[in-house]
Amino acid sequence: MTQHSATTSSANIPSSDKERLYLTFMQQRSQQFASDNYAGVCPEAFAAMDEANRGHEPAYGGDSWTARAADAFRTLFEASCEVYFAFNGTAANSLALASMCQSYHSVICSEAAHVETDECGAPEFFSNGSKLLVAPSTNGKLTPESILTVALKRSDIHYPKPRVVTITQPTETGELYALEEIRAIADTCRELGLKLHMDGARFANACASLGCRPAEMTWRSGVDVLCFGGTKNGMAVGEAVIFFDTKLAEDFDYRCKQAGQLASKMRFLAAPWVRMLESGAWLRYAVHANTAAKEFAGRVGGLPHVELMFRVEANAVFLKLPLTVAERLRARGWMFYTFIGGGARFMFAWDAEPGRVDALVNDLQEICSSPDGLSS
Ligand SMILES: *Cc1c(COP(=O)(O)O)cnc(C)c1O
Repeated sequence: MTQHSATTSSANIPSSDKERLYLTFMQQRSQQFASDNYAGVCPEAFAAMDEANRGHEPAYGGDSWTARAADAFRTLFEASCEVYFAFNGTAANSLALASMCQSYHSVICSEAAHVETDECGAPEFFSNGSKLLVAPSTNGKLTPESILTVALKRSDIHYPKPRVVTITQPTETGELYALEEIRAIADTCRELGLKLHMDGARFANACASLGCRPAEMTWRSGVDVLCFGGTKNGMAVGEAVIFFDTKLAEDFDYRCKQAGQLASKMRFLAAPWVRMLESGAWLRYAVHANTAAKEFAGRVGGLPHVELMFRVEANAVFLKLPLTVAERLRARGWMFYTFIGGGARFMFAWDAEPGRVDALVNDLQEICSSPDGLSS
């Protein structure tokens, strides 16, 4: 299984049991950059859970935290949007897309989109069969041209009718749509009568990098529905589904409940958002993560045998490495995925430690400058 490449590849396990136990112990305690989901919970989110834990509150979203969290999003986005909370991004994306589609509709996405490659068919499942139409793309991004090509390919009754375009901001390979690119896509959507959805699993990183107001990157640029990721931003769990086109939110509460996404103790999903948004931690941590990624890329990009695969515009760095370099990195205890984007992926989270970034840089430098065996 590909997922195991980051953790249990035989290449990263030394021969003796003693060494293996030690290495496993070290790996568990030390910061890794395999995924931003390896990180723990940030202090603001944790404190908010603790605060929400004092006393009783109404269940199923009838609590004061949920109301405050929704208001905090309305303030952040300068809009009277409808806000819902789901446990994870797969559910948020799938239910959001389902709310925009009938079962005979289709959703246009890039071939690298998380909804296509990493959600196990959940968007199709929760929409009762709305088909994803995959557009070829460079670096995971859609363009007006690629959308037009897919949308206009067929218009007969035998083909699922295009209804939604979904874009990932930042993309799965850590690149950004510029505001003009989002607006151009939105214009194409309007021409074709399509709705625009944004998968913002790392929305905070995109805002931090572009330095724009959240409203600018979303509804003012034509986005109808946004999934705003809390987990990768430093929370334990939870994503917000934000409807700027509030008509699309009709009965969304029922959709969440039916899908098992209505938290009975909703306040524990909502309270972290209140603190994250009101304190500005959501943006501060994203800036930190992006900065760590940029710095790492700057220091390793020029090493022999190392090639940066994509522009580093958020918190992801993809390196093209010879197999031997990757194996030696793993032998030194580093964990990373290679099944996304085809290279070694390093993700920098809200808590990326400069010392661990240094250690990774140093290991890469040593491995890449040692003359033996790299050719094999
Ligand atoms: C992480 C991620 C999600 C959400 O994944 P879950 O594991 O379901 O929370 C959605 N989209 C993208 C692009 C992601 O990276």
